[in-house]
Amino acid sequence: MFNKIVIANRGEIALRILRACRELGIKVVAVHSEADRDLKHVRLADESVCIGPASSADSYLNIPAIISAAEVTDAEAIHPGYGFLSENADFSEKVKQSGFVFIGPNAETIRMMGDKISAKNAMLAAGIPCVPGNNDPLSDDDQKNLKMAKEIGYPVIIKAAGGGGGRGMRTVHTESALINSIAMTKAEAGSAFGNPTVYMEKFLEDPRHIEFQVMADSHGNAIHLGERDCSMQRRHQKVVEEAPAPGITPEQRKLIGERCAKACIDIGYLGAGTFEFLYEKGEFYFIEMNTRVQVEHPVTEMITGFDIVKEQLRIAAGEPLSITQDQVTFTGHAIECRLNAEDPKTFMPCPGTIDQFHMPGGPGIRCETHIYNGYKVPPYYDSMIGKLIAHGEDRKSAIARMNTALSEIIIDGIKTNIPLQQDIMNDSAFGLGQQNIHYLEKKLGIY
Ligand code: ADP
Repeated sequence: MFNKIVIANRGEIALRILRACRELGIKVVAVHSEADRDLKHVRLADESVCIGPASSADSYLNIPAIISAAEVTDAEAIHPGYGFLSENADFSEKVKQSGFVFIGPNAETIRMMGDKISAKNAMLAAGIPCVPGNNDPLSDDDQKNLKMAKEIGYPVIIKAAGGGGGRGMRTVHTESALINSIAMTKAEAGSAFGNPTVYMEKFLEDPRHIEFQVMADSHGNAIHLGERDCSMQRRHQKVVEEAPAPGITPEQRKLIGERCAKACIDIGYLGAGTFEFLYEKGEFYFIEMNTRVQVEHPVTEMITGFDIVKEQLRIAAGEPLSITQDQVTFTGHAIECRLNAEDPKTFMPCPGTIDQFHMPGGPGIRCETHIYNGYKVPPYYDSMIGKLIAHGEDRKSAIARMNTALSEIIIDGIKTNIPLQQDIMNDSAFGLGQQNIHYLEKKLGIY
């Protein structure tokens, strides 16, 4: 096992990784921006290195600064967390070239999965069902594109091959809007992701977002840890996640889960990963693979009792998977509410000082957050300040526990989305597990 690693991230995930390191006896180097000196994990780390000014581009995305922090502290590996450089193939490559272990898959895999077109083609080859579409970069041939859309059938969605974070996609309902939409998505993709390549697929009208968690080691073993439902979304961003996904049968779980695990072996995958699907009318359609730990990994941990982050560290250190597929069991139901520093009505970010913070508790409650009394939420980064996870013997008890926890939690001094989360937990359709990816926006009157 490693002696010391660098955590190249911030906030709750950095704290989560630090806790896993503590359990495994690994020393932690926290790298942070000038605005993040007071982050909880920076205070708890064995060593810390300031890697640049507040802006992410100069700090958390600054590859040379992060690698030199690993050099000066004599660390052996770098955990990228999620977001920032976690899915950056060049980073993975440079970490390796500099003599460190990147805690995640190798650069070629990240590159292949980072391009949604090559990811879809790799998945089709591995027998994973995908959303019907062209699966090739769109050319500038208008007639060809019009013909293609007609064959797929409207509505279609134009997506950036290099897109992420819910950006870089445009739905097209009519033939007259197609050409212009392709041009606009290309231009946006070029400026946002540095890659103007776009492709076309069928726009599924009312699907659910269901994803499978996988783990693969360097000895040719891979397992799946079941699925999560992340259909409660706003602007293609997840708001609530749960495991298992309501209504998914053990047979479906086994069939798709095992195909995902097999695909990992086929592509030489390493570490934790997620296969994201849209699910409509009983069918799964692959949309993309995330080659890192997910924000919502705790719901899977709660129902499986398996520590995904510790396993990431073990796998990166060259150990074989600590369990086999037969040893994966699912107990009860878990729900996660993302806690954001934002206005619950306008969704405007609300940075500022937290005057009072009281953590909820009780059976089955887990609170993953880096905030504390007097902590100042900086305005420079994502507005997520934590996650509340509730586990119960079934979905109903998980919702009841989440409701109790949401009523107990106190975060004063800034606005948060807690009222929105309470609203969702008491929503009758959510109570029945009937959400789809448009449900929340329809409820909010913005879809
Ligand atoms: P990103 O990498 O930006 O997260 P994804 O490909 O994972 O992009 O898609 C994010 C979300 O966009 C999905 O969860 C879904 O809500 C919506 N979406 C993507 N593709 C389609 C599609 N073909 N039909 C309908 N909605 C889609």
